[in-house]
Amino acid sequence: MQKGYQKVEYKNIPLFKDVTDAQWNDWKWQLKNAIRDIPTLEKVIKLTNEERDHLAKTLKKFKMAITPYYAALMDKEDRHCPVRLMAVPTLSELHVDESDLSDPLHEDIDAPVPGLTHRYPDRALLMVTHECSMYCRHCTRRRIVGEPDLNTGLGHLEQAFEYIRKTPEIRDVLLSGGDPLIFSDERIDYILGELRKIEHVEIIRIGTRMPVVLPQRITDNLCNVIRKHHPVYVNTHFNHPKEITEEAKIACEKLADAGIRVGNQSVLLKDVNDCSNIMKKLMHEILRIRVIPYYIYQCDLSEGISHFRTTISKGIEIIENLRGHTSGLAVPTFVVDAPGGGGKIPVMPDYLVSQTEKRVVLRNYEGVLTTYTQPSDYKGHNPENCEYCHDQNLVAKDGIAKLLNGEGTSLQPENLRRINRHTK
Ligand SMILES: *Cc1c(COP(=O)(O)O)cnc(C)c1O
Ligand code: SF4
Repeated sequence: MQKGYQKVEYKNIPLFKDVTDAQWNDWKWQLKNAIRDIPTLEKVIKLTNEERDHLAKTLKKFKMAITPYYAALMDKEDRHCPVRLMAVPTLSELHVDESDLSDPLHEDIDAPVPGLTHRYPDRALLMVTHECSMYCRHCTRRRIVGEPDLNTGLGHLEQAFEYIRKTPEIRDVLLSGGDPLIFSDERIDYILGELRKIEHVEIIRIGTRMPVVLPQRITDNLCNVIRKHHPVYVNTHFNHPKEITEEAKIACEKLADAGIRVGNQSVLLKDVNDCSNIMKKLMHEILRIRVIPYYIYQCDLSEGISHFRTTISKGIEIIENLRGHTSGLAVPTFVVDAPGGGGKIPVMPDYLVSQTEKRVVLRNYEGVLTTYTQPSDYKGHNPENCEYCHDQNLVAKDGIAKLLNGEGTSLQPENLRRINRHTK
């Protein structure tokens, strides 16, 4: 028998004592009853006078919204509870660190039309809304999330669809926000349908935190709507083993049963999951509910989240403690999303110790040094007779890959002083 999962207890919480199961399991009720003010919050958790005072100050600048479900998951007494740290504002959010940037990933700058970031050659990120069911305190997009939806009406979407239509390189569209699943099933059906009409859009991805903060949103009807538009992939955002509940399990299994592969993108957060063993447990738990670890993100340089940041070394340490020690499926890629819009940069421990033409020395997770003897007669792949090498959609046109393909001999930063000194 598998170890069971806990349902979130809510009847014993004063605020929810008269709530019926039907209400509790209705995502629209959950949305409508999200906790947005201090008096309501105090019917769920204990606040010290200082915390209450700090919270009031922070709420003047940032919005709070916590779904009843996620609120019930918080520890009532312990202010260090990881779920609480992700949900309840603190005074630290008002601190602007000297390294903070308002749009660190240049998502707005790299946007050819409002709400659409086209950073990588073959895929684009479409922010369909600024709204979420709950506002995560560590949100990297807090510059826009929770702000009134200025340009996310259907007009803005139409502009984005038009851009995708006339950009045949885009074969992968990521719907993000905000949380796209805050929309009605009909609206989601419409958006997926419009994208599916575009011939060159091969896959669609939806980024959502609903399975974590509002698992009731994952209804049979929603799954039926999504599966009509396959191949559709979902990425969600579990950060701590405490978030794996019976409700979350049901939600993720519903998606999996509809053939919708769910991946997970965690954010490395100080005092929440900056521990190899918490992360290992989290990866094991999400696999048990049929979610596949995809990324662990280094916390971005967005304003107001500096109190969540760890060193990059912490992420490397976590990967060192996962790779080899547990299932390969449980090992996500640790990435730093480059400030300035450079995209995700994977970082990991070094496994390559040294090499000659003939031999490569590698180390494994146990510290064993091993050698791999390279074939002496390997001539490489011949692109001449390879139809895929003649497909311009596949051939890399940027970066180191371009150099390796023989297109150009160097990549140079702009305004090199050495180059500026050249007379011609
Ligand atoms: C993360 C991201 C993507 C998707 O990256 P993958 O590595 O393909 O998952 C695409 N566009 C933007 C702007 C992103 O930030
Ligand atoms: S669900 Fe995602 S976009 Fe919304 S607040 Fe949380 S991290 Fe930000």
